[in-house]
Amino acid sequence: MLDKRDFYIDGAWVAPRAGTDFDVIDPSIEEACAVISLGGEADTNAAVAAAKAAFPGWAATPVAERIALAEKIQTAYENRKEDMAKAISLEMGAPIDMAHVQQAPTGTGHIAAFIRAAREFEFDHALRDDAPDTRILYEPIGVCGLITPWNWPMNQVVLKVLPALISGCTMVLKPSEIAPLSSHLFAEIMHEAGTPKGVFNLVNGDGPGVGTTLSTHPDVAMISFTGSARAGVIISKNAADTLKRVSLELGGKGANIVFADAHEKAVAQGVMRCMNNTGQSCNAPTRMLVERSRYDRAVEEATEFANGLSVNSSHESGKHIGPVVSEAQFDKIQGLIQIGIDEGAKLVAGGLGRPDGLNRGYFVRPTIFADVKNDMRIAQEEIFGPVLSMMPFDDEEEAIAIANDTAYGLTNYVQTSDMEKARRVARRLRTGMVDMNGKARASGSPFGGMKASGNGREGGRWGLEDFMEVKAVGGWE
Ligand code: NAD
Repeated sequence: MLDKRDFYIDGAWVAPRAGTDFDVIDPSIEEACAVISLGGEADTNAAVAAAKAAFPGWAATPVAERIALAEKIQTAYENRKEDMAKAISLEMGAPIDMAHVQQAPTGTGHIAAFIRAAREFEFDHALRDDAPDTRILYEPIGVCGLITPWNWPMNQVVLKVLPALISGCTMVLKPSEIAPLSSHLFAEIMHEAGTPKGVFNLVNGDGPGVGTTLSTHPDVAMISFTGSARAGVIISKNAADTLKRVSLELGGKGANIVFADAHEKAVAQGVMRCMNNTGQSCNAPTRMLVERSRYDRAVEEATEFANGLSVNSSHESGKHIGPVVSEAQFDKIQGLIQIGIDEGAKLVAGGLGRPDGLNRGYFVRPTIFADVKNDMRIAQEEIFGPVLSMMPFDDEEEAIAIANDTAYGLTNYVQTSDMEKARRVARRLRTGMVDMNGKARASGSPFGGMKASGNGREGGRWGLEDFMEVKAVGGWE
């Protein structure tokens, strides 16, 4: 079993001052694969003190040098990408090939995008051509607490660490205690790249422990959080007394609006988008709204697709989906499938229990409910498993109304060959992101939501701005 009990504080691996042991569970076999420490207040305080001491020096380091460090991190990450894929696969159950192709490369992709954004960003400029006497200066906000979830572990860590670093902030990372192995490796990468001591620190722990100490700490200027809306509310309240900036990336309940004129593969691709990463993506299109004239065919296509999806161990090579991350998630998903049945939704694929032949591991059957009403709990709550809700709509107006009738506002999807209609609908959807006709947004686009999906915008120039203060200086010339 791997021993990852130490924390990375002030440029060195150190034993916990007040830690308790915590097992990391391999979700494919339900057995411990590593042990970490859940830190206590003394550990968090030591990490914050190191970040505070390093802040003046790092904030004064020229941007070009900070970008040069980001380039070294990129190289170090690239050199360890095989190990990274293995760590992610082990800790949260992403099938090993998927971890290689999708999970681990999010890190390199985001590092490259931030280097580009930083090169283009004007950290210091005149207000306007006709106001050269007023100067706008972007400055790092200070010590940042970075709190991340387990579902796309490196994606979320890099989306926070890199912009904080390039902006001149110093930081304490608290990754998910459920999936801490990739962050442990990431700390090694930061060390190998030559990050000055104290600039980046890592303390493992849980929400009530390290998470709360960071959120209430007087020397922490900002919390950048990705996770559940539940924890986002608690963090916001805890951060209020010290007036911290709080950037929140929370859950989602994305609608995928499939018009009758959508391309042939739109339904199958929509099911795949929902089930990818075993349904554990905040931006998953978990409600499929289909124009009535295409609805029955769409249900058949979705059922066929879900029945053809294979589920297997994360250790096996192949294109299957893996287990969900934990027993708690498995139980929650089973509970919501039962609720869907009790609410009267029509179960057309999957259902309760494990897939045939998988008796150990947190494996869930790819599940499709048809004839879902949008006020059912399965249509309103984030299930975070391979479960899709399908419902018909009659016209554009109704599709928009159903899509927007949710507490969340992260990503919606539109499928139609009528581009005027697509653009019209996109403008009216209350989400931070809209994906149309299966085309991805370019790297460097802002990622974030509205309403209960939070207030942050990560990636590109928006991601950098999140970690900076804007200073306006008069009488510059
Ligand atoms: P979670 O909220 O349980 O935990 C996320 C992180 O917050 C963990 O590090 C956890 O230890 C910490 N935490 C929990 N309670 C805390 C508290 N009271 N104070 C401080 N920290 C606390 O979420 P999770 O189960 O790890 O992740 C799944 C959730 O994350 C889903 O809701 C998903 O939609 C969301 N998510 C959002 C995005 C996005 O960018 N919008 C991306 C990925 C995941």
